[in-house]
Amino acid sequence: MTKRQIVIVGGGFSGTMLAIQLLRKGDANLAITLIEPRAQLAEGVAYSTQDPAHRINVPAAKMQLSESEKGDFDRWYRQQPAFLQDSAALWQDGSVYPQRRQFAAYLREKLAHALNGATATFRHVQDYAQAYQLGQLFTQQGLRIPVDQLVLAISHPAPLKPAVFQALSTDSNVIHNPWQDESLYTLENNAEVAIIGTGLTMADVIASLVRQGHRGPIHAISRRGQLPRANLSGHYDDYSLIPATPLPTTVRGWLKLIRENVSVAARHQRPWQLVLDDVRRQAQTIWQQLSLVEQRRFYRHLRPWWDVHRYRIAPQVAAVLGECLASGQLQINAGRLMSAQHISGKLALTLRQRQGGSKTLLVDKVIVTTGPAHQQLIASQPLLIDLAAQARITADPLGVGIAVNAHSQALSPTGTAHDDLFVVGPAARGRFGELMGLPQVAEHAEFIANQLLAIPIDTLRERCPRESN
Ligand SMILES: Cc1cc2nc3c(=O)[nH]c(=O)nc-3n(C[C@H](O)[C@H](O)[C@H](O)COP(=O)(O)OP(=O)(O)OC[C@H]3O[C@@H](n4cnc5c(N)ncnc54)[C@H](O)[C@@H]3O)c2cc1C
Repeated sequence: MTKRQIVIVGGGFSGTMLAIQLLRKGDANLAITLIEPRAQLAEGVAYSTQDPAHRINVPAAKMQLSESEKGDFDRWYRQQPAFLQDSAALWQDGSVYPQRRQFAAYLREKLAHALNGATATFRHVQDYAQAYQLGQLFTQQGLRIPVDQLVLAISHPAPLKPAVFQALSTDSNVIHNPWQDESLYTLENNAEVAIIGTGLTMADVIASLVRQGHRGPIHAISRRGQLPRANLSGHYDDYSLIPATPLPTTVRGWLKLIRENVSVAARHQRPWQLVLDDVRRQAQTIWQQLSLVEQRRFYRHLRPWWDVHRYRIAPQVAAVLGECLASGQLQINAGRLMSAQHISGKLALTLRQRQGGSKTLLVDKVIVTTGPAHQQLIASQPLLIDLAAQARITADPLGVGIAVNAHSQALSPTGTAHDDLFVVGPAARGRFGELMGLPQVAEHAEFIANQLLAIPIDTLRERCPRESN
């Protein structure tokens, strides 16, 4: 019998972590192919940045790949030459916040280790998957790769161009994708800059600008003008939510319960971050007990507030933002961007301010930091468009990724599950809720490895005879 062919599309964190789990669990009858156009695995959007100002946003001790590997990344990092060369990584409470590229290096070492002990085979095909037909995956370079089980590990599409910049889409004064546009690093130090978005990507961009000695004014703009909060400094015991009976079934009920817990914690000198951390630990369970109506309500009303409290930034980056705010170099604008046009060599941005009235900013450069356009994931590339056209995948009802069932198998538009097609990582979070941070994505990868290996290969092949090459 030929080997079980598992093909993973995407070699960022999710795809690489799944490969590690399959190597750890699979036997000699398993062949794993990981398709990833980047030369290096384990990077993806988050960990490919080479900018030393971009740090992981939680202490290294919390970037765990499994319960049994708690603290492993922290220990590994402290033994690297990179630790000695980066004095800023060590925070005053003794935690370390390495540069993000260090995490990719760590994961690659884990992959190499898993390969050493494995009987399954593994190959990285440096190519771009474009289409899927009858048990074969077709790549940009013309390869046909046999597939028994396909896993999509594609999470973060490029940011969406805000409507007001559509007419300026080729304008070199507008950076639409700061993850790819190197012109951020050749920006004139005195330039007046507008940043669209005030979330984590904004924090990265400001950290980069300050590192390269930027002195010009920076205006950050978002609807609410909310900034990501800083991570806790210091060491605290975990907080456990005081259980409510019965448990809330609505978003409003959960909000009330969380606020009550924040008050209780505060009375005991315990910061709100600890309460949110416990909500986060339970978030997949909480999420899956909410009805679709309540989940939609969360996305409509609460998500912006959840995001700024849950996606926190490293204290080093928070300190940079704090200094820029205190000196007046950074100004936060809450409002809606109404128009953008060229006026005598500058870009004029007009905003309708949240507190009323309008305002025009004249800037040299605009940097779009609205983050990945998750709502456009399926439309973002040929393979996903092709799978959707064959009714193999569809957007989840919340529009944040790909619809899956409780096993993370892709669903057709009519709700039929495909047990030869899985989604790993944040693209499945419409179903699972909290599925963005490392520990949850790592657990999800292990969960999927178990599901893949549990399906008898014969049943898959009987249903889907592969076209001969
Ligand atoms: C900027 C950023 C910083 C973050 N920082 C942290 C942090 O500090 N701590 C934390 O816990 N979490 C962090 N996260 C969250 C996190 O770790 C991510 O959720 C995780 O990286 C998800 O990676 P992924 O592999 O699913 O997706 P992606 O990063 O999107 O990787 C997908 C990969 O698929 C490849 N690909 C896409 N299409 C194809 C195709 N057709 N064929 C072949 N390959 C393809 C791409 O080249 C890419 O390498 C961060 C997220 C981001 C975006």
